[in-house]
Amino acid sequence: MTLQVSNNVTAIGKMDAPIFDPHAFRLNDEQAAIIARARELGQTVFAARAAAYDRDATFPIENYRDMHRAGLLGISISKKHGGLGAGYQTYALAAAEIGRYCGATALTWNMHVCSTLWSGPLADDLDMDAATRDLHESRRAIHYRRIIDDGAIYSQPFSEGGAAAAGGVAFGTAARPVEGGWLVNGKKIFASLAGHADYYGVLCTETAEGEKASRRNTLYLAIPSDAEGVSVVGDWDPLGMRGTVSRTLLFKDVFVPEDAALMPRGVYFQAAMRWPHMFLTLSPTYMGLAQAAYDFTVHYLRGEVPGTPPVKRRMYPTKQIAVAQMQIKLEQIKAIWFQAVTEACAHPSKEQVLRAYAAQYSVMEGANELTTLAIRTCGGQSMLRSLPLERLYRDSRCGSLMLPWTAELCLDRIGREALYESGETDD
Ligand SMILES: Cc1cc2nc3c(=O)[nH]c(=O)nc-3n(C[C@H](O)[C@H](O)[C@H](O)COP(=O)(O)OP(=O)(O)OC[C@H]3O[C@@H](n4cnc5c(N)ncnc54)[C@H](O)[C@@H]3O)c2cc1C
Repeated sequence: MTLQVSNNVTAIGKMDAPIFDPHAFRLNDEQAAIIARARELGQTVFAARAAAYDRDATFPIENYRDMHRAGLLGISISKKHGGLGAGYQTYALAAAEIGRYCGATALTWNMHVCSTLWSGPLADDLDMDAATRDLHESRRAIHYRRIIDDGAIYSQPFSEGGAAAAGGVAFGTAARPVEGGWLVNGKKIFASLAGHADYYGVLCTETAEGEKASRRNTLYLAIPSDAEGVSVVGDWDPLGMRGTVSRTLLFKDVFVPEDAALMPRGVYFQAAMRWPHMFLTLSPTYMGLAQAAYDFTVHYLRGEVPGTPPVKRRMYPTKQIAVAQMQIKLEQIKAIWFQAVTEACAHPSKEQVLRAYAAQYSVMEGANELTTLAIRTCGGQSMLRSLPLERLYRDSRCGSLMLPWTAELCLDRIGREALYESGETDD
């Protein structure tokens, strides 16, 4: 598919280099082309729109229409189903490029893409008997067709305000089995794309009458946004990531047919145990924000940022040291993150899991550190709302809060899992 992009190159009048140079990071031509497609769309189209979505806290629906035309809504759908067939690493690198230009688009795109990544390549790695796999194949084809043909948008409302999204207990949203499907009741908070997704990919617990809720019985259901009993409530006026429109979703006796399952019974629980990198996919957005903070600083100090006087500040040693510190931090983040998204797989080793937590922590905290340094280094004029840096700062602050791998929980897990082998106690 040929990508139509405008000539509105926003930053300094030329196309940005990729965050991860395909040659240096040993990406093949197909990967490089998909990632370049995301970068071009981000730089030439999304960057100019980002301020308005942020200011008005509105969903970037125009960007989604463009991503559909560019084939990016189906980035991780297999070629056999009409998608681009990108694996985990390619998707993550493309998402970082989008995040560089519009954080809210990248973060919400992640929720959409994960619906296909988890039901696609991840599910292929998990145990299913032949009949279940056949059934899953026919069901996911329905979802994929809607995305490819109609540009359908999927979201991932998991959070409920309790311990479930952190992985501690079963989801409170309940799916009671009935003839032909389930009746779903519950509430999801921080539901990005609320009111804009066509399908909400809801995690809920299948619980028969009188049965105790168990995480093993987690279901992952694509509930149509226009199904009877679905409503969006509350307002959305946050510090950052304003374009995600993460309002509250309510489900009241919503009938969901069996073919709405994005994964067969028991497979989500298996994925959470065996494919832990599935929870690292919120980080690419923030990898992009980290790069954007660095890019802005370099352009600003060189007197190249449009809308600012062409005053160079690069000759001051303090500025040079600050940029050096930012560059070192950025390369550290890139290195650990690239390794983690490259080695993502089923049944990772303990070392790979610890590295995934460390990568998530490094990106989420590091992106905000870089935007903070950028503002301090560039100075007062750089944080005016007419420039993107203050938005990068606010958006980047949200990274550490994303469950299940918040910065705090990553520290908890690294400390515990480094010091204890599975099942080990001090008794
Ligand atoms: C911009 C944005 C978009 C979002 N989009 C989505 C979305 O699309 N779908 C979705 O499901 N969620 C989404 N979230 C929600 C996000 O993943 C978190 O669920 C939400 O930020 C949690 O807020 P809380 O105050 O309820 O957290 P709490 O559960 O109260 O936790 C507060 C903090 O306590 C710590 N904590 C929590 N549990 C434990 C524990 N068991 N042990 C130790 N420490 C713990 C964590 O560090 C956490 O940050 C979004 C959040 C933001 C900010």
